[in-house]
Amino acid sequence: MNKEDGFRDDKDISFWDGIARSELWLKKCNACDVVLSPGALFCSECWSNALTVIKASGRGRVHSFVVYHRAFSENEAPPYNAAIIALEEGPRIVSVVDGSDRLKVGNTVEAVWSSTPAQGPALRFAVVNDTGRKRED
Ligand SMILES: [Zn+2]
Repeated sequence: MNKEDGFRDDKDISFWDGIARSELWLKKCNACDVVLSPGALFCSECWSNALTVIKASGRGRVHSFVVYHRAFSENEAPPYNAAIIALEEGPRIVSVVDGSDRLKVGNTVEAVWSSTPAQGPALRFAVVNDTGRKRED
């Protein structure tokens, strides 16, 4: 990804530099210690703009997900999912969890990294503990 994609700006460079190194970095508020989602320019709890970049564990739980049975992305072969991952540090991010056929809300997941020549490293997740509950349709 590059600046022309419109997803990256100078305030968010640590997150994307981390992705390029297959690492997950987040911002933490110096005033109230809340960890913020990527792209945050100020704290959503106390409005402070005094933020520090921290390296995230890469672990979280599946908060919600959908399974696509048609190719919405040219980079994924259906069926694949788009999951909201509640990171251990607090923020939620959207990503793909490998193995959509056995995915459940509440699954413990861990960051894994895929890489393509066109895109470079990409953040994905894999289930590490199948303790979730079955998805309710
Ligand atoms: Zn704060």
